[in-house]
Amino acid sequence: MTSLLVRGIAELVTNDPTLGDRSPLGLLTDAALVVEGGRVAWVGTTTDAPAADAVEELGGRAVIPGFVDSHSHLVFAGDRSAEFAARMAGTAYSAGGIRTTVAATRAASDEQLTAHVAKHVAEMRRQGTTTVEIKSGYGLTVRDEARSLAIARAFTEETTFLGAHVVPEEYADDPDGYVRLVTGPMLAAAAEHARWIDVFCETGAFDADQARTILAAGRAVGLSGRLHANQLGPGPGVQLACELGLVAVDHCTHLDDPDVSALGDAGTIATLLPGVEFSTRSPYPDARRLLDAGVVVALASDCNPGSSYTSSMPLCIALAVREMGMTPAEALWSATRGGALALARDELGRLTPGSPAHYAVLDAPSSVHLAYRPGVPLVVDVRGGSYSPT
Ligand SMILES: [Zn+2]
Repeated sequence: MTSLLVRGIAELVTNDPTLGDRSPLGLLTDAALVVEGGRVAWVGTTTDAPAADAVEELGGRAVIPGFVDSHSHLVFAGDRSAEFAARMAGTAYSAGGIRTTVAATRAASDEQLTAHVAKHVAEMRRQGTTTVEIKSGYGLTVRDEARSLAIARAFTEETTFLGAHVVPEEYADDPDGYVRLVTGPMLAAAAEHARWIDVFCETGAFDADQARTILAAGRAVGLSGRLHANQLGPGPGVQLACELGLVAVDHCTHLDDPDVSALGDAGTIATLLPGVEFSTRSPYPDARRLLDAGVVVALASDCNPGSSYTSSMPLCIALAVREMGMTPAEALWSATRGGALALARDELGRLTPGSPAHYAVLDAPSSVHLAYRPGVPLVVDVRGGSYSPT
């Protein structure tokens, strides 16, 4: 097996607190990394580096684990730029806008949807993302949910069945009938292509009883649960996620004190999605409050055409630091290791011996520059990743 020594790393983020400066990021300076067989074989200082078959000199750049984007909705067609422009002109966002994308997605061919996902996955990769979760949720028929997940599965193992995204127009008068469709024939067709099941638990989408029913049905066929909750206002979703012991609950923008306590007690990860608040001009979630309460926080893009059409994890980091009270170190950890834990993928989001060598090289001497230089394309190289070849 050929080994590669990467040296001249001004700052190496390992996300292993037993290494380097013993912080959560496990920072090593003047560092080197050996990669063999797609895995990290060694990390340490350049002066201690072992010999290898090939050597790459980075000349003082920073190396970070690739971003793990644990929440995206990439299987869709069309865009909603007109809706965005209207919203920025003062029109309030409502969940019903999803139906616009549902119509476009149903009308698209498999080839069009696949090309669309490929374009966005490539866009993510250029910005340092090496693992992405992709949800269905713009088909909302048995056929369209199953094919959305089959298309997503060609790109990632981390696929999520979100038939319970919104009640489609044809079921507007029979939402319980739609829940029966989701938990019956739609789940049966979707399950083989999915690892996770998710529900948009929010006023205007699905209530707590419906969410509980849908998650139980998913669990019965081997899917693990996740929830969209407490995005647009206070609600029961976060408490439900904690009660069910879900790995992660996503959005968490509107929380009361019992919600925060429940997250800490349950160990359920709060995945914050600042691209949404940016793109909807809404108040950001209070990451500082969660971190101070001992809650584990992940950051993800929520890349979708309605409420957060960004694929950029560096943007999410910059927003989390500027608007949500996170330190640059906390935000980077949440966008890498936090995302890995939110997907229950313990081997990802770190650069330690034995872990997959999924990393990004920054044209900067430290990872602080991700938040310090917002909007600047600092990622100059990306190696490894959980994507299937496209
Ligand atoms: Zn989402």
